[in-house]
Amino acid sequence: MKNTSMLSDLSRHYLELEEKYGAHNYHPLPVVLSKGRGVHVWDVDDRQYYDFLSGYSAVNQGHCHPVVVQAFMEQAQQLTLTSRAFHSDRLGEFTRYITSYFGYDKVLPMNTGVEGVETAIKLCRKWAYEVKGIEEGKAVIIVCKGNFHGRTTTVISFSSDPSSSKNFGPYAPGFKTIPYNDLPALQASLEDKQVAGFLVEPIQGEAGVLVPDDGYLSKAKALCAAANVLFIADEIQTGLARTGKMLACDHENVRPDILILGKALSAGMLPVSAVLADDDIMLTIKPGEHGSTYGGNPLACKVAMSALQVLKEEKMTENAMLRGRQLRDGLTALQSEFISTVRGKGLLNAIVIRHANPEAAWELCLALKENGLLAKPTHGDKIRFAPPLVITEEQVNDAVAIIGKSLATLRG
Ligand code: PLP
Repeated sequence: MKNTSMLSDLSRHYLELEEKYGAHNYHPLPVVLSKGRGVHVWDVDDRQYYDFLSGYSAVNQGHCHPVVVQAFMEQAQQLTLTSRAFHSDRLGEFTRYITSYFGYDKVLPMNTGVEGVETAIKLCRKWAYEVKGIEEGKAVIIVCKGNFHGRTTTVISFSSDPSSSKNFGPYAPGFKTIPYNDLPALQASLEDKQVAGFLVEPIQGEAGVLVPDDGYLSKAKALCAAANVLFIADEIQTGLARTGKMLACDHENVRPDILILGKALSAGMLPVSAVLADDDIMLTIKPGEHGSTYGGNPLACKVAMSALQVLKEEKMTENAMLRGRQLRDGLTALQSEFISTVRGKGLLNAIVIRHANPEAAWELCLALKENGLLAKPTHGDKIRFAPPLVITEEQVNDAVAIIGKSLATLRG
């Protein structure tokens, strides 16, 4: 454990419990949270912070959104799990709600994001063999360098980040990696008749909020359509109003053949993911061929409907668009020598730190924390700024001031 000298005894107590009894598979900022409301979280010593990570975009609606909490509590007292051995009233309602919300024939509900990705991969392969006519076992899915789609053994098999994959092999075959934001590379790889799908993040979140060129998604979709290849959008981080549209693909009017959602689908209450597709794809999976005990449970269904409802009712796409622009403008106006880039869309943003000290981004996050704002570096020198979408104009100004003040601590 490092950088814990400024912690209270209470915080240190909880940190030490995790350190001693929990696996060391994360490197968290040294802050111990115990409460959240809207854009704010509080630590065990009752210090208040802006949450500029939002649970990696799982808390778009803000912490403990009262409407979603109410839905959660009502359903928790009624029925929480049936398994898919039986029907539930909520699953029926949810399937109608989410398919009409996004305009697809069918939905397949799962829990974590990576299960959604696994589901999309399985669906794509089934479609490849049973509809497209690729020889069984030969289907290829194209993925992008720098991708992040989760942590299962299949998904890390096509990660280009060694810390995700090293010593976790043997790796699953059937994936081909091409550079992100590179249409000629996509076009060339589509020549292979065994290609069944193109799995892509509309903006690469974990890679440091890499926004592709305008037109990339729409042209990629057109290339896929021409090659009879499924365009599979992983909108787990970019979807649900985060980038200023309901889906990041909406910026280019692209309708994915398979759409994967997760994270904010439950407003941060419990793991809920969903895969949407039309009948020609979705009905290739037959009873008994895929599932999950908790997938589509009544509690998840009720919470997800409520989480989707508040996104629309409270106009969170519009707010993400406006406040995102304000945030990027504010960060640019700081004219900090330590920021080489400000980028993003809506409220999915990042800065790239320029500093002789390779630990500068981490040091800045510690300074931000001391000044009342929580953010986390990704890939060393990038810091994502992705607050809940309920943030106000005044709060964005306040946050920019905190960031400016914290940047000053990097000097000397
Ligand atoms: N896909 C993307 C784009 C993500 O950002 C993430 C998580 O950060 C995942 C998939 C995996 O989601 P989960 O951690 O819920 O499995």
